[in-house]
Amino acid sequence: MRHQGANGRDNWSRPIKAGVKTSPADSRANNRSMTLSELYHRGPLSRADLARATGLTHVSVSQVVAELIAAGLVVERGQAETRGVGKPATLLAVNDSGRAFAAIDLSGADTVAGAVFDLRGNITERMSMRLGGAVDTAAAELVCEFAAALVEAARAPMEGLAVAAPGIVTADGVVRAGAYFGWKNLPLADKLAARTGVPCLVENDARIAALAESARGVDGGLMLVLVAKGLGAGLVLEGDLLRGPSGAAGDIGHVTAVEDGPRCRCGRRGCLETVLSAAVLEGLSRLPPGPGRRAAVESTAHATAAVLAAAIATLDLRRLVFFNRDNLLAPDLLDAIRQSMTARLLPFTTHNLVIRASTAGPDTMLQGAYAHALSERLGITPWASPRP
Ligand SMILES: [Zn+2]
Repeated sequence: MRHQGANGRDNWSRPIKAGVKTSPADSRANNRSMTLSELYHRGPLSRADLARATGLTHVSVSQVVAELIAAGLVVERGQAETRGVGKPATLLAVNDSGRAFAAIDLSGADTVAGAVFDLRGNITERMSMRLGGAVDTAAAELVCEFAAALVEAARAPMEGLAVAAPGIVTADGVVRAGAYFGWKNLPLADKLAARTGVPCLVENDARIAALAESARGVDGGLMLVLVAKGLGAGLVLEGDLLRGPSGAAGDIGHVTAVEDGPRCRCGRRGCLETVLSAAVLEGLSRLPPGPGRRAAVESTAHATAAVLAAAIATLDLRRLVFFNRDNLLAPDLLDAIRQSMTARLLPFTTHNLVIRASTAGPDTMLQGAYAHALSERLGITPWASPRP
């Protein structure tokens, strides 16, 4: 089986999943991604270090390293210190400026943010654009123009472009239902690839935020709840992003949280996003301490915990992280969610469960998009180093 990029071009390297039948080309790609990952997470390393770490033969390591150096992905960087006799080993490192990645954040509704990253994840260029209320094909056209300008601004060969988009997004980058722009079955990844000539990935914004959060250290399964205009969740389980067969995994905003609750934009009543959304958080932020605030916080927390508790128990999650780009998740709300969750679940489940607000900053979506592109294009997963 050949793995292919979003626009049909082969990925340069790609980890192989257990149980998948492989070809010699897959093995070479796997050896490249193993070697790159070791150098990314633990470099600089010598060829002998790489052979030990990857389990590859010295001959294979030399071949892979030669390919990576020729491709501009790896550079020689000085010599290892030696105590004994013999020639000191040459050290190898990932070439941070050898590739660029472009990231676009569409989760801000009317403002599009973009950045170019180097291979290491440093931002080298930034751009932003107002959509001015554009929707449908006009919005898609503006995003394509923005992507082309971003790719143009890169100083190194562009390896891939990743987009964080609100709505239901399939694995091949089709936005089946776009939350803000009225997109229906829009093949956004293909459109962007055709415009920019760069392999493109489009992923749901809550899932991208979950990757960004995971890149800050993984310990068990993670659910990230994105509290924006709507509400969605991203799940990273055993190092893998969960999409679901229709691209709708984590689409929990319209699960009923309150019987006969407030009317939702979907036409039904009491959906979770009528209970917890950016608008609700803004309302809470204006309530002064006192019984009125306590009652509002508790009813939000109870309804939220009622929907999320089953997912936590089912998936044995270790982290439930809430993300709101304006940092409106108040400590008393998080405390109330913790208390309600503790009341709903056995101690065995909640003992190792951390519930908190995301510590990621305003670049969360851009950083998550970079991490996604790095993983999909080069087989390096910043959120899961190969060994501790
Ligand atoms: Zn709804």
